[in-house]
Amino acid sequence: MAIEYVENIKGTVGSFWHGMSITLSHLFRRPDTLQYPDTRAPLRDTLPSRYRGFLEVDIDICTGCLACEKACPIGCIKIQVEKDPNNPKQRYMTQFDLDEAKCMFCGMCVEPCPTGAIQHTREFEGSVIDLRNLTFRWVDPAKPSPLYKVPKGTQAYLRKPLGSLVRTKIKAWDDPGPAWLPPAREGTAAPATKKAVGAANAQAVEQAKKAIGADAKRLTVILEETQAGTDCGECTYPTCHDYSVAMASGKEARTNLCSPGGAETHAATDLIMLTFKTGAVPAGGAPAPTAAGEPPKA
Ligand code: SF4
Ligand code: SF4
Repeated sequence: MAIEYVENIKGTVGSFWHGMSITLSHLFRRPDTLQYPDTRAPLRDTLPSRYRGFLEVDIDICTGCLACEKACPIGCIKIQVEKDPNNPKQRYMTQFDLDEAKCMFCGMCVEPCPTGAIQHTREFEGSVIDLRNLTFRWVDPAKPSPLYKVPKGTQAYLRKPLGSLVRTKIKAWDDPGPAWLPPAREGTAAPATKKAVGAANAQAVEQAKKAIGADAKRLTVILEETQAGTDCGECTYPTCHDYSVAMASGKEARTNLCSPGGAETHAATDLIMLTFKTGAVPAGGAPAPTAAGEPPKA
């Protein structure tokens, strides 16, 4: 009995020290887990070969075929091609904008590209306060780019080193958004000035006045004008029109589903619905947006 008791104590002490020795040994080992961004090698060199990072466009070998724009299932790419008025055979690209913030990195735009002009890179670090800084402009509208004509018999297309172009597009995290894009989405923009809020409120009041006495069809039109008009589907309806129809017909009570429109669209939609129900524009203009998206009580 006494021997068994001593053996138990011995076993307990032995296993305790075995565990502790493993724990203590980690105090002197090189850690396997590192805190980002303290890495032993540049992170982009450690990524798998088929990693899909930011998209990059080498406009010098872009034919302007629009295949990438058509292939994108969520409309991240906007391209415009125009004819030279003096030489109709010559066409120029005046816009190639790619919204990397919206992109889901599916690669569907890369596959149909005949020249490999659009490619995924290994770049991924693009933390920015203003999401508009992740819309990369590959053609400066002030300097339209002539479309690339594939020479006969071309077997391969030389493009600039992958990643070298996109790196020049990545902005500092606190850079203000580009002036050529509409105001950022709710929560990503700098706080609105009093003047901007006043102007938005006045516009909402004008729209609300129009809603007085409107029938459901006209109300749909007014509501549709108030949404962002991007048809992005973030409201869970296929288009802004469908969302407006649902609100006007009373099937949808939530007025805050248009996230590209942000707080302004939400407040304006609330005001229009309230005005439509009560027949009068509330004193003070747009009510404060309701947190849950329900319309304000009439
Ligand atoms: S990777 Fe997909 S989501 Fe992104 S631009 Fe290309 S097609 Fe659109
Ligand atoms: S990037 Fe490729 S697919 Fe897109 S327009 Fe240019 S050539 Fe066509």
